[in-house]
Amino acid sequence: MEIISKSYLSLSIIRLYEPTYGDIIFENQKMNNINAKTIRKDMQMIFQDPYGCLNPRMTVAEILGEPLEIFNIAKGEEKRRMVHEALQKVGLSRNSTDRYPHEFSGGQRQRVGIARSLILNPKLVVCDEPISALDVSIQAQIVNMLQDLQDELGLTYLFIAHDLAMVKYISDRIGVMYLGKIVEIAESHELYESPIHPYTKALLSSIPIADPDASAEMERIILEGNVPSPLSPPSGCKFRTRCLCAMDICEKEEPSLKEIEKGHSVACHLTDKKF
Ligand code: SF4
Repeated sequence: MEIISKSYLSLSIIRLYEPTYGDIIFENQKMNNINAKTIRKDMQMIFQDPYGCLNPRMTVAEILGEPLEIFNIAKGEEKRRMVHEALQKVGLSRNSTDRYPHEFSGGQRQRVGIARSLILNPKLVVCDEPISALDVSIQAQIVNMLQDLQDELGLTYLFIAHDLAMVKYISDRIGVMYLGKIVEIAESHELYESPIHPYTKALLSSIPIADPDASAEMERIILEGNVPSPLSPPSGCKFRTRCLCAMDICEKEEPSLKEIEKGHSVACHLTDKKF
C-alpha cells in the first residue's frame, strides 16, 4: 500500500479511506471486499482531537447510543444501560449522559470518545495519537485507562504516537515509519535494545533521560536536513538524504523489508552486509 502518513494508514485500515492498492488482512481475511459497515463493528478508532471528533449538537447519550442503533444492537432501556456501562468503564458518571461535548474538559472528552469506540465491543481499536492533544498531566491517566481496558476487554490496539517513551510503555510490537513506509518492525523490547535501522537508532537516541549524568554520557544521533516531501521522495532509500551510513546502492535501490531475526524485520541495505 503506498501511503503518505501514519494517520492515512490508520484511516485506510478502518476503511474511512479506500487503499489505493495492496491488501489489508484482519483475522486471516482480506478486508478489501468486506462491507465497510461490517468492518466498523469489529474495528473502531480513537481520534487525536477530542474536540473535533464529537458532534457538538449531540448529547453524550446520543453520541454513545447512535452506534447501538445503527447496528441494531439495543434500543430503549437496554441502550441506556449499555451507555451507562460504557461511561462507567471510562471513569465518567452516568450523570454525563445529558451533557454536550463543550461541557467537558479535554481529558473527559477523550474519555467520551473512548467510550464511543468501545461500545460496540470491537476487536481492534486504532488509537491515532490519542493523547497528543491532551494536557501532560492527563496523558498518563488516559494511557493507564487504555491499558486497564485492554486487560479487561481483551482488546488489540494499533497505537500511533510520536512519544517514544510512551510507545515503549504501551506496546508489545512496534513498527517505525519514515516517509510513509515501515522501515523496522520488532517486538518492543527487541527494538529498544537492538535497533538496526539508522532512523530507529536516531529516534531512540533522542529520548530524554531523567538522570543528568546518564544523559550527558549518552551519544545522541543528530539527523541533518529536513524530511523530504512525500510527493517527490528521494530515489532509492527514502531516508538516504539524512542517513549517516548511506552508500552508493542506497541511491539506486529501495531496500525491501527483510526479516533479520524471527519477528524482527528491517528495510536497509546495511543488513545485506555482515554486522
Ligand atoms: S538503505 Fe542506506 S540510506 Fe537507507 S537507511 Fe540503510 S544505509 Fe541508510
